[in-house]
Amino acid sequence: MEKIRVLVWNEYIHETESEEIRRVYPNGIHTAIAEGLLGFGGFEVKTATLDMPECGLDEQTLQSTDVLVWWSHVAHARVPDEIAERVRKRVLDGMGFVALHSSHLCKPFVGLMGTCCRSKWRENDEKERIWVIEPAHPIAQNLPEYIELAEEETYGERFEIPTPDELVFVSWFSGGEVFRSGCCWKRGLGKIFYFRPGHEAYPTYYRDDIRQILANAVYWARPSHGPTPTLGNVKTPYETIRLVDHSNEYHP
Ligand code: ZN
Repeated sequence: MEKIRVLVWNEYIHETESEEIRRVYPNGIHTAIAEGLLGFGGFEVKTATLDMPECGLDEQTLQSTDVLVWWSHVAHARVPDEIAERVRKRVLDGMGFVALHSSHLCKPFVGLMGTCCRSKWRENDEKERIWVIEPAHPIAQNLPEYIELAEEETYGERFEIPTPDELVFVSWFSGGEVFRSGCCWKRGLGKIFYFRPGHEAYPTYYRDDIRQILANAVYWARPSHGPTPTLGNVKTPYETIRLVDHSNEYHP
C-alpha cells in the first residue's frame, strides 16, 4: 500500500522565542508530532513552518500532501489570506486536515467551519480527562476508555463550532469545564478532525496515547479517492437510460 503523505505544519514561534517552551520541544512541536507519526509506519512525513517561503504551503507541496496536520497559536494572522484560502480549497478537493489545540482559530479551520470557533480557556495546570464517547470510530482505535493528562490548558464550552458530523472525544477538566475535544467534519471531498490537547508548555505530543490518536486521525482523514462528482447541468437519468441499446438483452 502506498504511504500516506503527511505534512506537519507549525508556526514554530513559542519554541524559538521562549527558553521554557524550548525545553519542552527543543526541535519544535512539529518535529515531535512528525516523530510520533513515523513510529507507526505507513506515513511519509514532512514538516513545514511559517518562516519558509509561502509558509511552506506552496501549491506543489499541497498537491503532494494527503493530510495536513496544523499547529498554530500566536501567529494565525501572519498566514496570508491567499495561502489560507489555498489550504481551504485543497481540503475541499480532498486533502485531510487535522487541526490541533489552538489551531481552532487558524484561518483555514475558521474558513472551513464558517463560525468564529472561539471557546473559554484558562492556563491553570488543571487535569484533563479525555473520554472516548464513540468507541467504534476509527480514531478511537487502540485506545482505553479514557485518557488522563495530569496537566493541560483548560478549554471550555461553549466551543463556537458547527455541530460536528461525528464527536469522538469529550474532555472534562478538574476546574469543572467540559469540551468537545475530538470533532470530525466532512467539507467537500475533504475530512477534517479537530483535536484539543497540545498546549506548548506541556509534553503532550510525546505521549504514546496522544500519538496513537494523531496516527488514527491522519489515517481517517486520508483522501478517499472516491468518484469526482459531476456538478452543473446534466441529462436526466431518463434521457441517459433512453440512449442505452437494450436490443441484445436476454429476456426470459
Ligand atoms: Zn494553548
